[in-house]
Amino acid sequence: MALTVVGSIAFDAVKTPFGERERMLGGAATHFALAASFFDEVRVVGPVGDDFADSDMAILATRGTSTDDVERVAGGKTFFWAGEYGWDLNSRETLDTQLGVFETFEPKLSQASREAEVLFLANIQPDLQRSVREQCEEARFVALDSMNLWIDIARDSLVRTISQVDCVILNDAELRQLTEKPNLVQAARAVREMGPDVVIAKQGEYGAVLITEGTFFALPAYPLETVVDPTGAGDTFAGGFVGYLSRHSADGLDDAVLRRAMAYGTALASYNVEEFGTERVARLTPAEIGERVADLERITRFEDAPIELRA
Ligand code: AMP
Repeated sequence: MALTVVGSIAFDAVKTPFGERERMLGGAATHFALAASFFDEVRVVGPVGDDFADSDMAILATRGTSTDDVERVAGGKTFFWAGEYGWDLNSRETLDTQLGVFETFEPKLSQASREAEVLFLANIQPDLQRSVREQCEEARFVALDSMNLWIDIARDSLVRTISQVDCVILNDAELRQLTEKPNLVQAARAVREMGPDVVIAKQGEYGAVLITEGTFFALPAYPLETVVDPTGAGDTFAGGFVGYLSRHSADGLDDAVLRRAMAYGTALASYNVEEFGTERVARLTPAEIGERVADLERITRFEDAPIELRA
């Protein structure tokens, strides 16, 4: 099964209370591909400038990820994002966004990328997401991420794109902003009424919630003593979640598969935040992922032993 992702391939400048990097490989598609490639063949679609080194491309191509549809724009500059986190690593401030080659990007997918059965539309301008969605006619499962910027300036387009996907993965503040519902359950229902069957609410250090018609499943984040840089955690989660589903899409995506996919996404994201950018996930091993998934199963299991409660 093949999995296509379209999204930013970037250089990031990040400052957290624990250190900083002035320019490191990042971007939603990069973080997603590094995680999803543990599960399936990934094809990345997105533009870079000629400041993008072969060594950066090599990291993108980890575990055989195809970079055939990574367009190198002569004379162009790779997307650049700068952000800073305070003590509360759940909130961050964007200091700079330079679209560079994204300003003129018109996604044109190769035949191989169009044939993907599973598609992830990472956070980019919703018209671009829809153009890719429409090129992948055979996709059986399409997931989408977005951000407050597009809800602010391109809401109608975003809602149109959402109506064409199966799964929306947003943080809970974005879900509330998009739907104007303060309550998460109501917000998820409002998104499902736009079209998708599956809604994921990411909640930073508190974990993530999966909501479908018949399911409400919450998983905490993996308990870590040291978190260094949350950048890309959401995309790494999505890479684990969608990657796991891609491996299982031929068998049908039932409730148990969706729950396990949540655990893989959570385990992958927990490694991502331990170091800056892609540093930790770039040297992650399959065995390490398995360990944290097993821990999550143990941490979240409990057996009720009903007692007679006092009236
Ligand atoms: P996350 O922490 O999962 O929300 O993702 C952070 C990544 O998103 C960084 O590596 C940035 O390069 C990328 N990013 C930030 N802003 C944008 C944007 N407006 N469009 C596309 N990608 C972005």
